[in-house]
Amino acid sequence: MSIPEAVLRFASHLLWPLSCPFCGALGESACVICLRRLLDPPMPIDLDGLSLSAGGEHDGAMRELVLELKYGSDRVLGVAMGRALGETFPRPDADLLVPVPLHRGSERAFNQSAAIAEGVGGVWGIPVLDGLAWNERRAAQTSLGITERQMMPADVLRPVKKGISGKRVMLVDDVATTGTTLLRAADAIRRGGGFAVSALSWTHAQRLKSPRSLSDNRYEEKSFSHRGDDNA
Ligand SMILES: [Zn+2]
Repeated sequence: MSIPEAVLRFASHLLWPLSCPFCGALGESACVICLRRLLDPPMPIDLDGLSLSAGGEHDGAMRELVLELKYGSDRVLGVAMGRALGETFPRPDADLLVPVPLHRGSERAFNQSAAIAEGVGGVWGIPVLDGLAWNERRAAQTSLGITERQMMPADVLRPVKKGISGKRVMLVDDVATTGTTLLRAADAIRRGGGFAVSALSWTHAQRLKSPRSLSDNRYEEKSFSHRGDDNA
């Protein structure tokens, strides 16, 4: 970048604080073109029968964007991240996108997974339904568990909307850490009369790609503690 260009960019940042951190484009917290360039999707990951597509590993700029989305208050960034995913992956054979919900009482200004789902749904022309909620009492009981399976009981998520019934659903999350949250969400969709056909996340934990079966991960208590933080 030349010096005049840098000065111009800095001046524009003062005038228009919203600018893409990657290319400097004004009016956007990060532009879809730059977000798409960051994506490095692995082959779909098999989560005990549920196929997960992820934008890339939870590392570097991909991870920074998740943190910005969670701890900043820029919902538009999440929608742009979703658009980048939607323009990268082919439209799935699904009727609905259902985001992983926020815990009740969360201090987050918005559900980051729902923002991503909105962006993806806009590209694919698939409606988004906030169709799941945490069973807070069941989630609270999990804190003393020893294994992850015990820590996240089968009914930790529940369907809250009739609109799920009879629908093919793609689940959407910001980060897939162990995959257990998505599997519990798929169970809840089933209990609501729908069918979770696949899942999509912005990033995935590196070890989800490993040939080890997911069941090995269920006994890593530490990893779920982290996942719990993600949903706090
Ligand atoms: Zn850009």
